[in-house]
Amino acid sequence: MMEIILAREYGFCFGVRRAIGLAEETLRSGKKVASLGPIIHNPLEVSRLESIGLRVIDDINELKEGESILIRSHGVPLEVIQELKDRDIDIIDATCPLVARAQRMVDFLSSEGYKVIIAGEQGHPEVKGLVSYGKGNTFVVSSLEEVPDLSKEKVGIVGQTTFSIERFREIVGEVVSRSWEVRIFNTLCNASRKRQKAVEELVDKTDVIIVIGGKNSANTRRLVDIVESKGATVYHIESWDEVLAEWFVGKEKIGITAGASTPDWVIDKVLEKIKRLCFQ
Ligand code: SF4
Repeated sequence: MMEIILAREYGFCFGVRRAIGLAEETLRSGKKVASLGPIIHNPLEVSRLESIGLRVIDDINELKEGESILIRSHGVPLEVIQELKDRDIDIIDATCPLVARAQRMVDFLSSEGYKVIIAGEQGHPEVKGLVSYGKGNTFVVSSLEEVPDLSKEKVGIVGQTTFSIERFREIVGEVVSRSWEVRIFNTLCNASRKRQKAVEELVDKTDVIIVIGGKNSANTRRLVDIVESKGATVYHIESWDEVLAEWFVGKEKIGITAGASTPDWVIDKVLEKIKRLCFQ
């Protein structure tokens, strides 16, 4: 008998739910709003929000007269906020409170004279924001090999909220073994960790796992990586359209999870499609 098993934790985290709520609320109030970059890494949800009036821009110079700007949950570099303030533009700040905390930690460490290692992915929008709070004292490190020699310095460590806990531990271990003074702030997000732990549990209970979420979503890709690292069969989909009946031939237990930027309505449509293919 075929069975669908949902991960214990999946889908929207509170930071993304909050950002989308703020966007919807602002649009309902009649304001014209543009988000600086896609509000989340999920093209389907971005299209839905565009259909109710949210414009996506890549540069603040693309703002139209009278438009408010929405800062997405990843946050933005300090210079961007300053420029928006200088131009007297209405800011709707949807920076996730956990990202804002990591920004404050980088600011604090740098102000206290620490060299700040940001464990994260170079070029990720959140990391670009974090770097801007470090006043030139930051090093972005994504692996052990990239840990700089700061043996004569006071070193602070902060993580990109969606960074892998294993790699964070490795980097912390390496820095601690080399430096005489280290301050560590664990800024990794619980939401990501809970989804990662839940997908690990799902591997043991299922024959195939479907991970739903944007192909450009770091936290969704992390879920896929975890399943792959355990040698289990996994399919990463963005939309219900991609689901194929042949994936479930000979399988009894189908595991489902979704990244923190995957809306409930997309998950529901994927579940409907799987049920239609497997149970009808
Ligand atoms: S994954 Fe965590 S840090 Fe990122 S937006 Fe969601 S709650 Fe905030």
